[in-house]
Amino acid sequence: MLTATRRFEFSAAHRYWRDDWSQAENQRVFGKCISPYGHGHNYTLDVTITGTLDPRTGMVMNMTELKALVNEVLEEFDHKHLNEDTPYFKDQLPTTENLVRVLWQLIAAHLPTVARLAHLRIYEQPDLWADYDGAEETTFARAYSFAAAHRLHAPALSAEENRAVYGKCNNPNGHGHNYTLEVSVTGPHDPATGMVIDLEAMDRSVRAVLDQLDFCHLDHEVAAFADKPSTAENIVVYLWDELAPRFEGRLSHLKLWETRKNVFTYTGPHSV
Ligand SMILES: [Zn+2]
Ligand SMILES: [Zn+2]
Repeated sequence: MLTATRRFEFSAAHRYWRDDWSQAENQRVFGKCISPYGHGHNYTLDVTITGTLDPRTGMVMNMTELKALVNEVLEEFDHKHLNEDTPYFKDQLPTTENLVRVLWQLIAAHLPTVARLAHLRIYEQPDLWADYDGAEETTFARAYSFAAAHRLHAPALSAEENRAVYGKCNNPNGHGHNYTLEVSVTGPHDPATGMVIDLEAMDRSVRAVLDQLDFCHLDHEVAAFADKPSTAENIVVYLWDELAPRFEGRLSHLKLWETRKNVFTYTGPHSV
């Protein structure tokens, strides 16, 4: 499949609140997002289209045309209050998951017949986004960070082999990283909250797991790495095993950035 992606940006305010819930219930589920005055974001939207390559132009679709039609759609959202100024969030909350589906409908309806929408990703913040490809389910993702020391050293290998395999990472006194973990959860969204997952609960679950690693030495303080090397591959599998039971089968993938240059993705033991 050949795809083309163009990035867009717009800024908007919104508020999460359900009139049929108590203040306490709204607060528990939506946290700070319940402020009556609203708050705002710089949204980033990645629009991916696919279609047949036109041999005359060498394009699926002219990106200038895509830019114009998506900007026309976004005019209704840019510098607006999503709850108050658009018609789309009278009966549903303007969550990232609902917003990506609304934008899908609007953009898909505007596309010329030569192209079709393949994927939308919308970032509400650099560390919070939703993915949608027109199916029943939506993916919600959030990035978290933790800092830890470690030493790459395999008990099964000799001292010399360890030095040869791991190089600088085998330094006996250890070294450390700022790790970033992207957690993606896929499922139907709850019509009451407009969310695939309760955001506050997701934060609590992920932090509970990451706090056991944060500001620690992985090999000395985390039992799972006492007898196996704390490679990013082993860490991402460990994190999957810790997180998956907390997400009731909805964890779809984990992406662990060890540095800005090394990234490891795991989609669980049952996927190919
Ligand atoms: Zn918000
Ligand atoms: Zn390292």
